[in-house]
Amino acid sequence: MSVDWSKRKATAQLAEMAAGDTVLLAGWVHRHRHHGGLVFFDLRDRSGVVQVVVHPENPAFALAARLRPEWVVEVRGQIALRETAAVNPKIATGRIEVVPSELAVLAEAAPPPISPSDEGEIDEGLRLRHRYLDLRRPQMQRNLEIRHLALQTARRVLTEQGFWEVETPNLTRSTPEGARDFLVPSRLAKGRFYALPQSPQLFKQLLMVAGIERYFQVVHCFRDEDLRADRQLEFVQIDIEQSFVDREDVIALAERLTVALVREVAGWEVPDAFDRLTYRQAMDRYGSDHPDVRFGMPIEDLKQRAEGGVVPFLAQALGAGERVVALNCPARLSRKQVEEMAERSGLALAWLSVEAGETKGSLARFFDAKGAGAWGVADGTLLVGHGVGDEFLQQMGGLRLRIARELGLIPEGRHQFVWVTDFPLLEWNAEDGRWQAVHHPFTAPLDEDAEQIESHPAQVRSKQYDLVLDGNEVAGGSIRIHQRDVQERVFARIGLSAEQAAEKFQFLLEAFRYGAPPHGGIAFGFDRLVMLMAGMPTIRDVIAFPLLSSGADPLTGAPTEVADDQLQELGISVRPPAAPGRPDPA
Ligand code: ASP
Repeated sequence: MSVDWSKRKATAQLAEMAAGDTVLLAGWVHRHRHHGGLVFFDLRDRSGVVQVVVHPENPAFALAARLRPEWVVEVRGQIALRETAAVNPKIATGRIEVVPSELAVLAEAAPPPISPSDEGEIDEGLRLRHRYLDLRRPQMQRNLEIRHLALQTARRVLTEQGFWEVETPNLTRSTPEGARDFLVPSRLAKGRFYALPQSPQLFKQLLMVAGIERYFQVVHCFRDEDLRADRQLEFVQIDIEQSFVDREDVIALAERLTVALVREVAGWEVPDAFDRLTYRQAMDRYGSDHPDVRFGMPIEDLKQRAEGGVVPFLAQALGAGERVVALNCPARLSRKQVEEMAERSGLALAWLSVEAGETKGSLARFFDAKGAGAWGVADGTLLVGHGVGDEFLQQMGGLRLRIARELGLIPEGRHQFVWVTDFPLLEWNAEDGRWQAVHHPFTAPLDEDAEQIESHPAQVRSKQYDLVLDGNEVAGGSIRIHQRDVQERVFARIGLSAEQAAEKFQFLLEAFRYGAPPHGGIAFGFDRLVMLMAGMPTIRDVIAFPLLSSGADPLTGAPTEVADDQLQELGISVRPPAAPGRPDPA
């Protein structure tokens, strides 16, 4: 007999219904048990679970007893109130149960290699190998729902602000984000390759030249990088570009979008506008360009105190042009703890604490308790480092985070956004012996710094802005260069001759000859933002079909070898991989 599926209720709808109401349900057997002569099973659908109870006198009893986890079943039955002692406040339908009048098996299931009702740790390779089972887990369904809601909110907010969603191609040529490209061989033009976009950067700028004024796209981007915990080779951006704007306009739009997302989707309380730090401030105070500002313990500059010469080697370090800085850790650390932290941060740390009126630590001999107090030491430990450059500050920043994690200083459930602005425009690439763009070569310099592009490249700040959430970069963008002469000077500074620039970006530069409006934009790392909103430890948890961090896909087996005739058609021959330790055969 055919079923009228339009009558089917979601289990979550049952929470509102009354005892005696009849319902049609369908879903998967979540948990199944015999208890006191009865059969109980939880029926799971996308909306949740409901308990079904089958008494021995019920005609469906024999079938109910035979059910196994993950079988697909159809249940018609009546809602009954559970006895008080059996109420389960943890689930929405915990007040009720369903007594079936009819039960049918729609599909049997082999014993599943991973169980959707298992709430413990499951090996990730196995989860991805059977992702369709993993995605049945209520937590994973919730993650995909959050992702869906976030997408819809983003589309709504941007549409309300007058943005058009425009798609840009995947088969294109190299873009300027500076990672390795994924190449796609062309069959029609043998020996030539498309590059999958690292971002739609050039196309969105072309759309500004084309007069679209306000563009956005939910777009897949591809970067062939070594994978870390929060990266995928293929990831999704909410990509935005706008004409006739300055930095403040893009920041205001991004705040509007972010606030709507986290308030509506995650229910977080956040202010309408976020705090800001310049890159310099972020590095000096937190030793990071994506600082976690949910807790204090900033890096303190000890220059003035160290100048006094109380600690001779620190005064010497200052004299040698080093920086002397400290973290004032709010707990008294043991020698062993300090040594471990120093080793893991790669820092030579000096330290000082006061206990029962006595100074302790490697700096103890230079201070009595009063002197230590004057250096800010109270109930905790002063950890002092010295060194040069931003790399040293980054080590101190790493130490700051490590201490915070170990001492539990990061407030659970609190979330804090911060903008980082005024990044350097250029950075020195020691390996290649040349300057390179920190963001990408279309990022505009600050007007007041532009004249130093040739004379003091390291001093030039840019109109780049990054949005940071709880220590994670979640969006980044910039105001672009739209004057030809400035663009040429930046290209020259990063060692791109006019011919090389023309060869790489010819179509963009040509377009700019025909009237380019001032423009700028931003791109949100959507996976990461959703991960943080869902409170998940990795972006793989909020992507339906991600790759393992090795780049492999245990589900489909990708990447795979391909048949010889496929290669032949593409005009490609594959070199055997080099034996370890041997150079690649030519
Ligand atoms: N295309 C840049 C990126 O992917 C974002 C931007 O500048 O808008 O990082």
